[in-house]
Amino acid sequence: MSAPVATDMPNPRFDTVLIANRGEIAVRIQRACHELGLRTVMICSEADKSAEYGHAAEHFLCIGPPSAAKSYLNQDAILLAAKLTGAGAIHPGYGFLSEKASFADAIARAGLVFIGPPASAIATMGDKIAAKRAMIAAGVPCVPGPDEALPDSRDVVERTAREIGYPVIIKAAGGGGGRGMRVVSGREHLHEAVALTRAEARQAFGSAELYMEKFLQHPRHIEIQVVCDSHGNAVWLGHRDCSMQRRHQKVVEEAPAPGIAADVIDPVGQACVEACRQIGYCGVGTFEFLYEDGRFYFIEMNTRLQVEHPVTETTSGVDIVKAQISVAQGRLLEFDQTEVECKGHSIECRINAEDPNSFLPSAGTIETLSLPEGSGVRVDTHIHAGYRVSPYYDSLIAKLIVHADSRPAAIATMREALAAMRIDGISTNLPFLRALFEDEAFGHGETDIHYLEHWLKQRRPT
Ligand code: ADP
Repeated sequence: MSAPVATDMPNPRFDTVLIANRGEIAVRIQRACHELGLRTVMICSEADKSAEYGHAAEHFLCIGPPSAAKSYLNQDAILLAAKLTGAGAIHPGYGFLSEKASFADAIARAGLVFIGPPASAIATMGDKIAAKRAMIAAGVPCVPGPDEALPDSRDVVERTAREIGYPVIIKAAGGGGGRGMRVVSGREHLHEAVALTRAEARQAFGSAELYMEKFLQHPRHIEIQVVCDSHGNAVWLGHRDCSMQRRHQKVVEEAPAPGIAADVIDPVGQACVEACRQIGYCGVGTFEFLYEDGRFYFIEMNTRLQVEHPVTETTSGVDIVKAQISVAQGRLLEFDQTEVECKGHSIECRINAEDPNSFLPSAGTIETLSLPEGSGVRVDTHIHAGYRVSPYYDSLIAKLIVHADSRPAAIATMREALAAMRIDGISTNLPFLRALFEDEAFGHGETDIHYLEHWLKQRRPT
């Protein structure tokens, strides 16, 4: 790929960023803004009013009650806060409004900059059938199955399943968060599964549109991080393995994905970059794939910063959040594909406030906190001794990231870091993570997306 080039695009410069999020990611974005010399506006709900991290911002505004619908998801209140404080841009973080095309659109209409892709790209990728079609057009490999909505005709539904071959999976076009999917093992369950998924999709996502694809039985979850500027330059920053999942929620992520040769992954990375150019993508994004028997199958694109971005930062040396803000300012990417070099191995553990056996959320006050330190250890968090973990939001309270020369060395560093980390006063998943890092199959990189669920069924309570 040639060196980044500039086109005649307007320069959407801004000096103040409103961070429309909370917790560790709000702290992470704030750090990137300050390092870039930008001022920040932090918003919060009444439940987060006493959060210390808010006081590092130039403005800290409470915009509503604890319920996310009335605060972190309240578009009008967030836009008003931006207006009152003179913020020129809004960073949505992840979750909340980060993948709402209507929010990106409202921000643009208010004359502000949305730190993310254009609303049209969010809308295309949010519709899984449209996303699949766009990926096929760009030469990205997809899961076998039509890139069309499933019709009502029972004959066509049956024929489609027969042509794909059982087992198949019925998915809601507007689905997300691991919901709106049903696996069908044979013809006898097909029509009932379609009817149930359609009803669920209509209720949960406001659209009854479904599609069908092959259900892969032992895949790994591999994803590719991209970053694109508004001048048509796009690069990919290597790959991650996020196969360690519980209820479709990632628990441990690593970069690079173990055991995948460069000549296998490189064409997939290049196809992702090509897809970004074709859809006019700008900002950071992730292409998620299932990987089975040496082949990649696209499942979806996340059009936002992801929780697991630090494993790519530590291997590639690129500050993804700063790059994201910089391209939103209309700047050129500072590097091209030939300069991207991923080194060593990185692993992230999500530290959650939850019971390590039942996984029920645990709220309360953190009494003592001791974070691991040392070479190759990074902790992204907003918590401190005396911090009150609120019952209203996601249970993620910290991310523990390690980086070392090799995967075995990274696992060894992670074991030590987990042993050194102490959070008292609430329950956390630390005991569960410590046990998981002793597991031999994980140590050998021999896992798939179902591995953790099986492991949990067999383990003894901690
Ligand atoms: P969501 O947007 O709800 O996260 P995805 O399409 O990304 O939905 O799928 C979530 C998870 O569901 C995947 O990580 C994988 O575990 C499983 N899954 C989705 N599609 C398939 C498939 N075709 N075969 C096997 N598992 C699948």
